[in-house]
Amino acid sequence: MGLFSKKPKDINKNPFYESGSAIVIYFKCKKCGEVFMSHLRKYYDITVNYGQDGAAYRLDKEFIGGDCQNKIHIYADFKRNFKPINFEISGASFISKEEYAQNKK
Ligand SMILES: [Zn+2]
Repeated sequence: MGLFSKKPKDINKNPFYESGSAIVIYFKCKKCGEVFMSHLRKYYDITVNYGQDGAAYRLDKEFIGGDCQNKIHIYADFKRNFKPINFEISGASFISKEEYAQNKK
């Protein structure tokens, strides 16, 4: 009865929210606390890149904070089904959809 769907998403394991032809991420600037939402388009922002461990797609993107001009860099490798294999974020940290909604000005 929906027990499994109620399980909260663990963004430490997978901060990527699938949404049709996009993957949505939420993150928070480490410098000023500004929160961001970004829609990453599959096959455009996330490109085909066959690599180790069954990697099929890669995300390598830089964002500039609106408030403090902080550089935020996000990197990830995905499997064919868009599940992340590994990911890194610098200048910010991933937050949940809920946390984004609470912190948005
Ligand atoms: Zn900032």
